[in-house]
Amino acid sequence: MTITPLMPVYPRCGFRPVKGEGCYLISEDGRRALDFASGIAVNLLGHGHPHLSKAIADQAATLMHVSNLYGSPQGEAFAQRLVDNCFADTVFFTNSGAEAVECAIKTARRYHHAKGNPHKNVLITFKNAFHGRTMATISATDQEKLRDGFAPLLEGFVVVPFDDLEAARAAVNEHTAGFLVEPIQGEGGIRPASQEFLQGLRDICDEQDLILVFDEVQCGVARTGYLYAYEHFGVIPDVVASAKGIGGGFPVGACLATEKAAAGMVAGTHGSTYGGNPLACAAGMAVLDVILEPDFMDNVKAKGERLRASLEQMIPNHDMLFDSVRGVGLMLGLKLKVDSRAFVAHLRDNHGLLTVAAGDNVVRILPPLIIDDSHIAECVEKLSAGAASFTLPDAA
Ligand SMILES: *Cc1c(COP(=O)(O)O)cnc(C)c1O
Repeated sequence: MTITPLMPVYPRCGFRPVKGEGCYLISEDGRRALDFASGIAVNLLGHGHPHLSKAIADQAATLMHVSNLYGSPQGEAFAQRLVDNCFADTVFFTNSGAEAVECAIKTARRYHHAKGNPHKNVLITFKNAFHGRTMATISATDQEKLRDGFAPLLEGFVVVPFDDLEAARAAVNEHTAGFLVEPIQGEGGIRPASQEFLQGLRDICDEQDLILVFDEVQCGVARTGYLYAYEHFGVIPDVVASAKGIGGGFPVGACLATEKAAAGMVAGTHGSTYGGNPLACAAGMAVLDVILEPDFMDNVKAKGERLRASLEQMIPNHDMLFDSVRGVGLMLGLKLKVDSRAFVAHLRDNHGLLTVAAGDNVVRILPPLIIDDSHIAECVEKLSAGAASFTLPDAA
């Protein structure tokens, strides 16, 4: 037998974390790394945050799981708190980002079904998007590496160029249910949409009674210095898919919707065995306790500005490698002049800095939101040292 017990779908690296301490991860062989990947925008309170750990431990000892067939005081309280703090009127809890997007897709289709327009079942999506790994979410992207070998894919998606309002408008027809878009593309390379683009999608949806779905799985939950990134753009969606940071490391997702958009999601239409169980809700509540503290979001914005300024300052010293910085808040991308994967591995293996590679030659910098100035300085120092010791691939 040559297959590994863990199905070998990930090209796993030699860094094998066994413990987390705040903004650091410690590996099996005792190496300590500054974690500016945060489990890909998940551990927004870092590792071992006392309030989050205690909330999970206490809830686990009290009541971990019950069926969604029963009334859920924990789910109601968590949903109420989300509703009180964002555009949404109602929430469906999931276990992952892809499931939150699935629920968003079903919500959009069922809105039109409920209005007697079941033919309006096509979502317009965007090039280089990432919405997850389920059949529907890989069908919603044009990325061949996600789709290869998994045909037949699901119908009901049309992909057009990102941030191109005219292309989006031109794709609308009588079958269109709405748009599914990441306000800031994550896997695609930390690409923020323009305000005009998102506002334009909102206007089309208003004119034609379509559903605007934002996939905020990566950019949501305080990452940009706003609870959700739509606030940064000033464009209100009808449905938001949320996950990653929302449980701070515990698997939780949420599909947030307005009352109007959720018109079709009546009893019996959707469900989940685990989704929103008491343990998940306790984790989510504990995260909200911290990030809804009065100064938390302003601090994320301020730290984002300082990190960005420090990165920008460093670029001219290594302009053979570094191109530019982009992103919002603490969702930053350092664009390289070469493919980013080898540099991300070099930073991890030789400089004790964890980042994540993304499309378009980008190094994603997604620190825990609790970093302080010393972590910013350490990150920039490691990036500079990493750039100095990195062997550029031969020019093509
Ligand atoms: C990570 C991600 C997903 C998928 O989330 P999973 O929890 O891995 O299913 C969906 N959309 C975006 C924008 C993401 O970044």
